[in-house]
Amino acid sequence: MHGEIITIGDELISGRTLDLNSRYAAGRLTASGLCVTRIKSVGDDYNTISEAITKALNRSRFVIITGGLGSTNDDMTSKVVAKTLNRSLCLNKQMLQKIKTYVEARRIRMTPSLEKMAWVPEGSMMLNPEGATACGFILKEKDVRLYFLPGVPEQMRYLMDEFVLPDILSVYKAVPLIKQKVLKLYGLDEPSIAEIFKGLQDKTGEAIFGFYPFFPENHITISLRGKNESKVTKNLEEIETEIRRLIGPYIFGAGNQEMEDVVGQMLIERNLTISLAESCTGGLIGHRLTNVPGSSGYFQGGAIVYSNQSKVDFTHVSPRTLEMHGAVSDSTVREMANGIKKHMKTDLGLAVTGIAGPSGGTEEKPVGTVHIGLANGNQVFSGKYCFWGNRRQVKLNTSMMALDWVRRHLNGNSFLPGI
Ligand code: AMP
Ligand code: MG
Repeated sequence: MHGEIITIGDELISGRTLDLNSRYAAGRLTASGLCVTRIKSVGDDYNTISEAITKALNRSRFVIITGGLGSTNDDMTSKVVAKTLNRSLCLNKQMLQKIKTYVEARRIRMTPSLEKMAWVPEGSMMLNPEGATACGFILKEKDVRLYFLPGVPEQMRYLMDEFVLPDILSVYKAVPLIKQKVLKLYGLDEPSIAEIFKGLQDKTGEAIFGFYPFFPENHITISLRGKNESKVTKNLEEIETEIRRLIGPYIFGAGNQEMEDVVGQMLIERNLTISLAESCTGGLIGHRLTNVPGSSGYFQGGAIVYSNQSKVDFTHVSPRTLEMHGAVSDSTVREMANGIKKHMKTDLGLAVTGIAGPSGGTEEKPVGTVHIGLANGNQVFSGKYCFWGNRRQVKLNTSMMALDWVRRHLNGNSFLPGI
């Protein structure tokens, strides 16, 4: 039931390209109840590839190999595998046809190097002889199944989901079901999460918890295995309920949800509109809100008010407020939130102002000092935070905190404590 993943390419071991393929394959295999024991990345080097495949063959039941199937000279996976397994290279007619179709559709010339891609180790079978142009193949060596996939992540993912996973699962039918839930948290650090989880009641005793910082969020995964689907689902729900009882307000989403998805959904449900006045985030909050399809239903627009004058001109902050308290202050952010709300005629006005660094900090207002303001009807809320990190991190954290303010406000939760 266990297998391993080998990703091939000089770009992976020189730090140029992040290995997305092993992450994807491992995630899909694990979520299907299969066990991945190793992930290995190797360069475009004959001996290293050969050694990796030989070792994998001796200890695994299935091996997923990505990369090195292209037309250039450095792509040598087929050649290495053929030699390592003592097989000849054969022209696969189905693969050749696929390459020809691809070449004709793009009006490029068929070359020997393109044809090279169709020469695969004897006994290889194409994973998808019909349909999409992505080419991958399976090879059986004794009782081990070797899957060869292209390095291009989109192609690899398509073949993985449509052909590789169903094939492995058809062989290993006895795999117990595994269900996993990802909960996303903001505002609770890892040591606090660890402390809280010490007291967590897992009545099943079988849940596996994973904790992953994903700046500035923290993700918790709960995994449960079992044969009976309804029982596993029920147990998982019970554990989630218990976690939500302990840290509910910190959990902003689950699965693939982003903070902006959650906030957008809440605004739709409540039929509310929002506008933004952004200083230190330079439009990042607007960018995040508009990443969500359908955001025009609640996001009216806003202003990037970076200079003092723009804060006065576009959000009607009084020059006197700026003079007395400075641009990075509660008074200014309150006027910004109120000003943009009035100007844009929205239900909510959200504003941020701060010092993203690395310069511009003072003893009183160090780098990372950020004020958030939220206006709703006649109410205006404001708070001060001091974020740790570099410029990019301060901006990201500010956008996250500002959106979290909207979420907490609409949920009736208190805001995260500031300073
Ligand atoms: P290849 O199949 O080796 O010709 O790979 C084609 C392209 O896919 C490479 O140039 C990389 O940009 C990309 N690629 C290959 N392997 C990976 C991987 N493991 N993760 C992300 N991208 C990859
Ligand atoms: Mg390559």
